[in-house]
Amino acid sequence: MLIMRGMNRDITRRDFLNGALAGSGAVLLTSALPQQLLARTAATSPSDPIQVDPILAEDDWTGYGGVGDYANSNGNTAAVFEAGHQIRDGAFESLPASVIDTGETYDCVVVGGGISGLAAALIFQRKAGEGKTCLVLDNHPIFGGEAKRNEFLVDGHRLIGHQGSALFWPPYPHSFIARFYDSIGLKAPRLEYQKWAGPAPEIPLARTPYLGSEPYGLYFSAKFSAKFGAKVGQPQGVWVTDPKKLDGAPISAKAREELLRYQSADSASAQKPQYRGDAISRRLDTITLEDYMMERYGISRETIRTFSPDEGGGFGLGPDALSGYTAYAFDELGPIPEDGTQMFPDGNSGIARLIAKTLIPESIAGSTSLEDVCRNSVNFAVLDRAGAAARIRLDSTTVWVKHDDDPAKSESVTVTYTRGGKAYKVKARSVVMAGGSWTTRHVVRDLPADRKEAYAQFYRSPCMVANVAVRNWRFLYKMGISGCQWFDGLGSYMLVRKQALCGADSPTIGPDSPVVLAIKVLYSYPGKTAEQQGHMGRAEMISTPFREYERQIRQQFTDMFARSGFDASRDLAGIILNRWGHAYASPAPGFYFGKDGKPAPGDVLRAAPFGRIAFANTDLSGTPDHKSSIIEGDRAVEQLLSQVLAE
Ligand SMILES: Cc1cc2nc3c(=O)[nH]c(=O)nc-3n(C[C@H](O)[C@H](O)[C@H](O)COP(=O)(O)OP(=O)(O)OC[C@H]3O[C@@H](n4cnc5c(N)ncnc54)[C@H](O)[C@@H]3O)c2cc1C
Repeated sequence: MLIMRGMNRDITRRDFLNGALAGSGAVLLTSALPQQLLARTAATSPSDPIQVDPILAEDDWTGYGGVGDYANSNGNTAAVFEAGHQIRDGAFESLPASVIDTGETYDCVVVGGGISGLAAALIFQRKAGEGKTCLVLDNHPIFGGEAKRNEFLVDGHRLIGHQGSALFWPPYPHSFIARFYDSIGLKAPRLEYQKWAGPAPEIPLARTPYLGSEPYGLYFSAKFSAKFGAKVGQPQGVWVTDPKKLDGAPISAKAREELLRYQSADSASAQKPQYRGDAISRRLDTITLEDYMMERYGISRETIRTFSPDEGGGFGLGPDALSGYTAYAFDELGPIPEDGTQMFPDGNSGIARLIAKTLIPESIAGSTSLEDVCRNSVNFAVLDRAGAAARIRLDSTTVWVKHDDDPAKSESVTVTYTRGGKAYKVKARSVVMAGGSWTTRHVVRDLPADRKEAYAQFYRSPCMVANVAVRNWRFLYKMGISGCQWFDGLGSYMLVRKQALCGADSPTIGPDSPVVLAIKVLYSYPGKTAEQQGHMGRAEMISTPFREYERQIRQQFTDMFARSGFDASRDLAGIILNRWGHAYASPAPGFYFGKDGKPAPGDVLRAAPFGRIAFANTDLSGTPDHKSSIIEGDRAVEQLLSQVLAE
């Protein structure tokens, strides 16, 4: 049995596949968004709430957004995409004459309100001392970045799903992360989960959206059965509910033999890096993960690309494009305790909300208990209060950041953002750029050549998380499984998870419970470079209307489950699409230890601030884990306090 890497690394790998699709269909090349989707009424002051035109809530691109605080913020919204594309297309090469000076000066402005930016703001507030001010600017209607939630109301039940970042792991008790968790109210990071109820015999359920040791099936569509072993007449898709044996799988004998060898490989026998930067890790960073898998498991490129036996463990692309070191990059964050993975009902949105609640105590109603922070509403009115030491300004896309003088001696930085169609500027004594490589490289206008060159080696890949609410999951239960995996169509796996009680709709779960099934859609085009795959994937994801994705999801469910009683018109209760244009950092060979004798790009950006600007975000580490978001935020703030704001 293999242990999966990355997000799933402590999950026993009975599945051999958790993969991106090999070849995700036609690429549509028009990426422009319909203008009417972007209509918003102008805000009158920089902190006024923005009125969202109702068309945004339910157009043919955004689709349904669910209920609650996140209803207008499923994935990157149309407005976020549009503002981002304006930056990319050079609309803010110079400051517009109409820019409104808010007259504000902050000790620190943090660009990006994901976990990294929120953590940076909190750490700044704590370490800089009383009287120091901090402003977080984020381009979405709610904070959290990739750590957000969707909420559905299904037959009177309030169901929660995660939009992106999902899992966390109990930290070692004296670690930095343990102390940080403790300080935001996550004092007992092993959560309580729903229990089985009802007359139906229990089948094990996972706590996370990743396939593991709980029973699951593999679905091979009619395409596979037509090629291998079709019976007379119209071929039908085939279910294999013992993934360990692959008996009856309509695949070639060679692929079967390779996949069985892959899943039964002994992970202890691998020559793993002993420490970051040793000879093994450096060699792995010179080859692709695909080449490493072929070398280590003796499986063919064809089998890897057809069945994607490793999605890149949370790196957004297939093994063909990733550095071989991604196989072990997560290990740098330390071993994971045996009793392992945890998840809030809304994924790491729970962590983002705990940080926000600690930063601005009135931001979420009620006490600091997990229950209150998970269940109560966000109080948007207090996020950006005049005179407060810490402020979060939403719907604000930072478009221009520049020192007011020579960066080596400048006393301040000007930060300009757009909000509701207008541009505003504030002054900052220091800045943390926590938004990620894809915007930072464009908006820091005086970024020097070495940092630009470093950022040019960051490739971010898109991902769409489709949350599908179903009225019951008997169609899985009937087959004796709680999850499944498939090899063509939209996405590649999903499962029923029991939810943590702090936000679950009910303390119990059974096959008749309504649940949210998350389908992660990656866009991979094996054989192209990581950069090319990112561009192609974004074009495909952005140009596909909601209705088309909905059609594909209905079709996928019907193909797989009609025979076990699924009826789309009866059982499907809602679909929310979360489109992330730059979801994952996808490290290509050379990312971790540099190429041609040059330092690794992340190291260039982490080594020191540039003038009064320090860099954060999870992507700097090359490990898409919220712990690195926090660690990078902490490091950036420390650099500013000790090297920039020390005087
Ligand atoms: C699908 C998916 C699943 C994941 N699952 C896990 C998981 O299970 N566990 C885990 O630990 N990690 C997971 N991750 C990794 C995830 O990246 C981190 O956990 C974390 O949420 C990243 O936080 P961040 O603040 O570094 O970046 P982000 O969440 O990307 O936050 C950056 C914020 O800054 C905003 N921004 C960018 N540019 C600008 C600008 N110019 N102006 C204003 N705002 C701007 C962005 O829109 C965003 O809101 C997952 C990631 C994805 C995509």
